[in-house]
Amino acid sequence: MTLAATQLPAQAPSTKPVGFAAVGLGTISNIFMSACATMQTAKIVGLVTGHPAEKGPRYASMYNVPQDSIYTYDTFNKIRDNKAIEAVYIGLPNSMHMEYTIRAAEAGKHVLCEKPMAVSSAECKKMIDACKHANVKLMIAYRIQYEPLWAELKKRINSGEIGKVQSVTGGFYGSQPLGAWRLNMALAGGGSLMDLGIYPLNATRYVLDEEPTVTSATASTPDASDPRFAQMEETIKWTMKFPNGVTASFGSSYGERGPSDLTIVGDKGTLSMQPAFNYDRLAMHGTTQAGPVNESSTARQPYQFALEAEHFVDCIRNNKQPRTGGEEGLKDMLLMESIYKAAGHPIA
Ligand code: NAD
Repeated sequence: MTLAATQLPAQAPSTKPVGFAAVGLGTISNIFMSACATMQTAKIVGLVTGHPAEKGPRYASMYNVPQDSIYTYDTFNKIRDNKAIEAVYIGLPNSMHMEYTIRAAEAGKHVLCEKPMAVSSAECKKMIDACKHANVKLMIAYRIQYEPLWAELKKRINSGEIGKVQSVTGGFYGSQPLGAWRLNMALAGGGSLMDLGIYPLNATRYVLDEEPTVTSATASTPDASDPRFAQMEETIKWTMKFPNGVTASFGSSYGERGPSDLTIVGDKGTLSMQPAFNYDRLAMHGTTQAGPVNESSTARQPYQFALEAEHFVDCIRNNKQPRTGGEEGLKDMLLMESIYKAAGHPIA
């Protein structure tokens, strides 16, 4: 006798950890893999590297990955036959995100892709289509949206603690040595905006739940003879306006040593996160109608990566859509294209 589908007992959610293959074994994949090692629900079961004789065995021994689950970029498509690999984590230079997302989707694997999603909105759309077509999940690794202190800030803003939000300012700054792939337009797709400026941009969209338009942008390289900035700007500043009237002013640079911060000003108070976008030790402070605020995150790296991976695992196991799916990456990319266009440096 067969039971009608509705009479079947609900399937117990799988408790098997989701098997991830890390694609590109650089800085961020290293942190992501260390995060998986702290989780019950995710496990590194495959490695994809251009250095299969060196990085492959090193990470394989750290995470108990079998030798035959180490792939190169050439053999990547063979992950299709590896049932232990359910998802990939893409930690490659920006211009490689689209190719490996599409190839992973075609191999039937879910994709957790680093930010920026790709190097153009056209690429983002192809990634979304490929994952839809293959019926696999696509999530962009916006770790800030999984950070509890940022969720606390958003809650305070939403509950009206600083009154009606009036304006937002912020930025994220760093540096890059000559020869870094981030200074190579073909690999990075843009300058500090794609790498660092995306943080205040995405965090503000997350906190305000509104979609801005770009009102102005200026790109600059104070020392025009600096060979690091032969292909892109050193610094970019831009302004935006949200439909609710909130104005925003941001910056990012590979030359300026500015703070990692975001400040939201309301008509009844102010809340700031500084540092705002680091891997740990974030601090929120300000003055609100509820009194002074002074809180910091006590967890240490790589907890943000574990929280982000936990969300993706939940989406895979329980067939949910990631909160930061491909559409979220596409929205940022469209805005970054507008910012570059307004600065007189169109990238698309
Ligand atoms: P990285 O240079 O440390 O690592 C890049 C990896 O890609 C290396 O293993 C390298 O061998 C490999 N690779 C393959 N082909 C390459 C090529 N042609 N040129 C250079 N490297 C090549 O870079 P990363 O800092 O790990 O950044 C990787 C991605 O992660 C980027 O998209 C970046 O924006 C993103 N990222 C995200 C965060 C975050 O906090 N979410 C932080 C840093 C980087």
